[in-house]
Amino acid sequence: MYQTVARQALLAGGWHTLEKTFPVINPFDGSTVAQIADCGITEAKEALEAAVTAFSSFKNTSGFERSTIMQKWAQLIRANAEEIARAMTLEMGKPMLESRGESAYSATAIEWYAAEAERIAGEIIPSRFAQKRAFSRPEPVGVVYAITPWNFPAAMIARKVAPALAAGCVVILKPAEQSPLTALLLAKLWLEAGAPKDTFQVLPCADPVPVSKVLMSDARVRKITFTGSTEVGKLLYAQAAPTLKRLSLELGGHAPFIVFEDADVSAAALTVSNSKFRNAGQQCVASNRVYVHDDLTSSFEDAFAAQARGFKLGNPLDADTTIGPLVDKATLQKVEAHVQDAVSKGAKIVTGGHATGGLFFEPTILSGVNTTMRILEEETFGPVAPLVRFSSESDAIAWANNTEYGLAAYIWTRDIGRAYRVAESLEYGIVGVNDGVPSAMAPQAPFGGTKNSGVGREGGRWGLEAFLELKYISITLP
Ligand code: NAD
Repeated sequence: MYQTVARQALLAGGWHTLEKTFPVINPFDGSTVAQIADCGITEAKEALEAAVTAFSSFKNTSGFERSTIMQKWAQLIRANAEEIARAMTLEMGKPMLESRGESAYSATAIEWYAAEAERIAGEIIPSRFAQKRAFSRPEPVGVVYAITPWNFPAAMIARKVAPALAAGCVVILKPAEQSPLTALLLAKLWLEAGAPKDTFQVLPCADPVPVSKVLMSDARVRKITFTGSTEVGKLLYAQAAPTLKRLSLELGGHAPFIVFEDADVSAAALTVSNSKFRNAGQQCVASNRVYVHDDLTSSFEDAFAAQARGFKLGNPLDADTTIGPLVDKATLQKVEAHVQDAVSKGAKIVTGGHATGGLFFEPTILSGVNTTMRILEEETFGPVAPLVRFSSESDAIAWANNTEYGLAAYIWTRDIGRAYRVAESLEYGIVGVNDGVPSAMAPQAPFGGTKNSGVGREGGRWGLEAFLELKYISITLP
């Protein structure tokens, strides 16, 4: 199916083949997966006019009608899960096992918000005056502009578009230039589910700036929802100011993983290795700094290294591959630079440490890491785990919090008092206690960060409220 939608953009009433195209490159072998319609200013303007028209009627549909379409949409995603997974793997290189999981997550998130669409309701507000009646009425925010990254090409779309549509908003999506195929497939299935035209439009483009400029500067776009780097998030924050757009930002992370002296070492090692190496480390919630108590440094290091050596690098389409290529050369170069910088300043390579050809980098563990090294200061976005020793709980908390980021943090302990104490002290939006994947298959939970990791929350009722305005209506009875 991805071949059929590959060339086209979905806007202004249907599929558009454009003369200008850009290639989607398979990071495994550098081959061209597809040539995609390359949208620019003209398409952005057309999409906006179409979205404004679509919103004028979609906002009046009932939550029950929207829920029915969304349920059908989720069913179609489940029915086409293999094809969606394949498109994801081809365009950004994650192993099929993970791509299948992401397809399933996307359907689950859509189902969850389909159910929520039926529950959007206001409240009766009490009045001091006998002749007055008052209530609140949640209404859709309006036209939404969504920008998504390549690392979770389906999940990031589902997490934004599902609550937006459930709320009665219409969406113009600009997917990452590396991964437009998954976005186009999801939009195709939305139409097949019986959705009204132009409620979910997809504008792939090689250069995000011209399309974004049109949509960010127009006051009729009432909400921007973005997942990506902190740098671009800040840019969009500033661009949203002149028209005071509502805004949700899911940005970078630098997650600490703290292993206390009373932790279950083998469980912690298994968890950190999945948290670190899943998607070759290209996740905002990946464990980026591993703090291990002095008492179990060597046993933990051995167990973690054994896990890391168990990954199989290869063609992500192969069933037994557990680590695919990194998404592009720049990502590989950053990973190499972080390792070289750490080693040149005295870090030791416990396992891995090398690029192995193409865009592959071995699962790597570094010990003896300190704060002079870039890897403790910046998001690596690759399969490298730096180990740092600590001896006191207060140091572990202080070091974990000593970053501009605040997305996810993980702790391992059997002490329930410590679990509460540390979880409450960490300046993060998400804390996993003996849990390396707190957000897995949990669209009902809040997801998002503090500090430079973002603004607002996706997931759960908070993710839906982000697409609703609350109107207050007060009536004086005759
Ligand atoms: P990126 O910011 O470069 O790109 C993300 C999206 O923004 C892409 O669609 C891109 O085309 C678009 N973009 C880039 N420049 C733009 C501009 N000037 N105007 C408008 N749009 C622009 O990020 P990336 O490198 O593709 O993704 C990785 C980053 O995303 C990491 O920092 C990661 O932590 C973060 N991320 C965060 C979450 C989260 O939920 N917090 C989830 C996944 C990824």
